[in-house]
Amino acid sequence: MSFDFDLYVIGGGSGGVRAARIAASEYGAKVAIAEEYRMGGTCVIRGCVPKKLMVFASSYGAQIDDARAYGWNVSAGDFDWPVFRARLDAELDRLEGVYRSGLLKAGVTIHDDRAVVEDAHTVRLADGTRHSARHILIATGGHPSVPEAAAAAGVMTSNDIFKLDALPGSVLIVGGGFIACEFACVLNGMGVEVTQFYRGEQILRGFDGEARGHIAEHMREAGVNLHLGTDVMEMRAAAGGTWVMSTDGRERVFEKVIYATGRSPNTAGLGLEAAGVRLGRRGEVIVDGWSQTSVPSIYAVGDVTDRINLTPVAIREGHAFADTVFGAKPTQADHELVASAVFTQPEFGTVGLTEEAAREKGPIEVYATAFRPMQSAFAGRPDRVMMKLIVCADTRRVLGCHIVAPGAGEMIQLAAIAIKMGATKEDFDRTVAVHPVMAEELVTLRKPVRTA
Ligand code: NDP
Repeated sequence: MSFDFDLYVIGGGSGGVRAARIAASEYGAKVAIAEEYRMGGTCVIRGCVPKKLMVFASSYGAQIDDARAYGWNVSAGDFDWPVFRARLDAELDRLEGVYRSGLLKAGVTIHDDRAVVEDAHTVRLADGTRHSARHILIATGGHPSVPEAAAAAGVMTSNDIFKLDALPGSVLIVGGGFIACEFACVLNGMGVEVTQFYRGEQILRGFDGEARGHIAEHMREAGVNLHLGTDVMEMRAAAGGTWVMSTDGRERVFEKVIYATGRSPNTAGLGLEAAGVRLGRRGEVIVDGWSQTSVPSIYAVGDVTDRINLTPVAIREGHAFADTVFGAKPTQADHELVASAVFTQPEFGTVGLTEEAAREKGPIEVYATAFRPMQSAFAGRPDRVMMKLIVCADTRRVLGCHIVAPGAGEMIQLAAIAIKMGATKEDFDRTVAVHPVMAEELVTLRKPVRTA
């Protein structure tokens, strides 16, 4: 049977673009990709990249304050959002162009349109045209999910932040995950008065408990009005923004309300179930270790599968799919010991087991330290850095590493290599420190603070 394409990819985000490029350029497959919005997907257009640029933008105020303590005769002034926003838009246009030209250079056909699956080998575009393909890859990502009542009240999500014409004077952020905490810090750093409601006991559920507490304390010190065990009870439009009544009985009008209450896979209306593709309870595409769905010719990678929802994981999954299906190199993406960073201020880098999870598995030693780093201590700031290693008492292997510090994202990437290689605490100990840097503490932690 002959097909129009060897591979048809639906979704031009991190996972889809990687799979399309590798299949076409490395393995000579005839590939098409459909994207209904902008090439680059969540990461490039409304996620990691613009968020990180906002993190940089928001950190200069404190840096300029510190510079004064170091003898510079400077003052920060106000943050000019329209100036930043214009540069941000230009940068995202540039990056989208890079993605697009990379695909074209690889010989991939681009369809700037919404595509849905018609059957195991057919894709239909919104303009009515149909394309047949030996394999179809679903890489449609996810979208912010907001409780119905909040959506009805017209709250914003992370998608809308990058498109603001002006920064609000005050904002309420609902949620305690990656996105809520990162934007609470970013907007606070840009001079917005930030209130954050989280319904649970402590922000960043699922991460190491001690690190969560450390970050929450710093967010509060930096000026984020963080309310734990608190949710929105009622809200409605009011003069000057949105009137909100919280579960603890407080009332207030916020200029903007942002919900960061999780993300859901983009599978609605894609024709997947009709084509026989099994979906999970949250609408995620169910795949096996090869990213293959219940229909053998249809695969799925990235957030739409709701495995580990991180850009580098989607890229690995897309690459492994192309190697397996087009390169005769059967490869499964490795989901073990994936390091990640939360770009709160201070930053949080983490890999491996939390102390809480490691305790469940058997005897451990916990090595930890908290200290005032030289650079900000000199400037008179109260910031403290936290570093922690979780060690298996039997094998001596380092099972987890958690760092809350400026640059923790950079540090954890390197620590993750050693931990992925199976480094023991003694391997860390025999590594001579680099001095004077914060990360030297990782190799000078002598005595466990706890055993369990
Ligand atoms: P998360 O799932 O991390 O957090 C959602 C938060 O919203 C939780 O605190 C949750 O509370 C709360 N919540 C959920 N439903 C409700 C509700 N109905 N009412 C009130 N609160 C609610 O999602 P995010 O949106 O923050 O991030 C989505 C994903 O994006 C992450 O899992 C991550 O994989 C990825 N991401 C990664 C980043 C990075 O690598 N730096 C940055 C941003 C996103 P509870 O804990 O009680 O369930």
